[in-house]
Amino acid sequence: MTAWESFDRRHVWHPYASVLHPDPVYAVRSAHGARLELADGRSVVDGMASWWCAIHGYNVPELNEALSRQINRMAHVMFGGLTHEPAVRLAGRLLELVPDSLEHVFFADSGSVAVEVALKMALQFWLPNRPGKHKILTIRHGYHGDTFGAMSVCDPVTGMHHLFSGMLPQQLFVAAPSGEQWVYAAAEMESVLRTRGHEIAAVILEPIVQGAGGMRFYAPAFLRQVRKLCDTYEVLLILDEIATGFGRTGKMFACEHAGIEPDIMCLGKALTGGYMSLAAVLASHRVARGVEAGGQVLMHGPTFMANPLACSVALASIDLLLSSPWSERVERIEQAFRKGLESCRAAKGVADVRALGAIGVIEMKEPVDVPAIQESLLAKGVWLRPFARLIYAMPPYILTDQELALLVEAMVEVVHEC
Ligand code: PMP
Repeated sequence: MTAWESFDRRHVWHPYASVLHPDPVYAVRSAHGARLELADGRSVVDGMASWWCAIHGYNVPELNEALSRQINRMAHVMFGGLTHEPAVRLAGRLLELVPDSLEHVFFADSGSVAVEVALKMALQFWLPNRPGKHKILTIRHGYHGDTFGAMSVCDPVTGMHHLFSGMLPQQLFVAAPSGEQWVYAAAEMESVLRTRGHEIAAVILEPIVQGAGGMRFYAPAFLRQVRKLCDTYEVLLILDEIATGFGRTGKMFACEHAGIEPDIMCLGKALTGGYMSLAAVLASHRVARGVEAGGQVLMHGPTFMANPLACSVALASIDLLLSSPWSERVERIEQAFRKGLESCRAAKGVADVRALGAIGVIEMKEPVDVPAIQESLLAKGVWLRPFARLIYAMPPYILTDQELALLVEAMVEVVHEC
């Protein structure tokens, strides 16, 4: 272990991990295409795309070039009272891509902050005329980030509600849709909206795929029904597309599976192709007008809002995505997961196997031993980060057929070892 690696073990926090008794972490020296080059000399296929972000893989010439071009002009400048072309061109590009009703863009610095901003927009929307509408309604098993507003709408059991009870805003939850039973979840949502709609500002959902709250997929019909209910009971619909956006589920945005439009949409993660932290909140003109109805403005403004480097690389990433056969690439990954992971279904300890777009999930009956599984997967040439009962992958879209086969094979083998 190098000196800096042992310093890491003594001083540096890693996500959701002990700083005093740290689990192993693996040093990465560089990354190219869909591969991470570990400091110990191993080259492994990254099945995580760095937590869904690196859709084009690593060290992408077009993205590197966009950053070096921008850095020679300016790395950063405040967005209060100033503006710049990368941000405005990115806003334009996003508005071309997202559903038509979204017309205004707020740039935030991470997914969690985008969720905070979206919640704030929804609350400020009702404040001037119906201040009683200040609660958020959502479904269980959701995940929207780690800041306080975002945590308040994460799953109340697997989220961090027990740790911070008394400190989180109290929101409303209904059952998450499950297979054909989605109608019961929709009925429960309707009943809460009917009785408490006067208190509810917005419904927030991850469309079609609930990610970090359990990698659950649900029927587009549920989302269509939620859109109708929001209209009927005068509640805004916020769609958190931070994990699903930019093609991950097989559509550019997951809401397209249902053919519906949100009032507010959050984007992040793959927005910059995984190069830099940037998020965007998009809102309809009606939302923007409502926010300002009482003579107020949206009260948010991060220091690194619309960072020019991040906006430049986001523009380059979107151009690269649009000029690539991304939809075929994602479809190819879905087919490989569907066929390849199916053989696990009968394995001891497996509860379910599912795939959608470039997402493949093996759900076990019991929580998995993460360090042991990671060690075994690395020996097979693959990097994954399982959690709870889930061994899942969401690789860069550009991985080769051989890398995809290696990934699927390693997942199947590791499940048989469990
Ligand atoms: N929303 C969703 C759906 C997410 O998956 C995540 C991150 N996993 C977030 C919000 C939070 O994003 P960030 O980690 O960039 O704050």
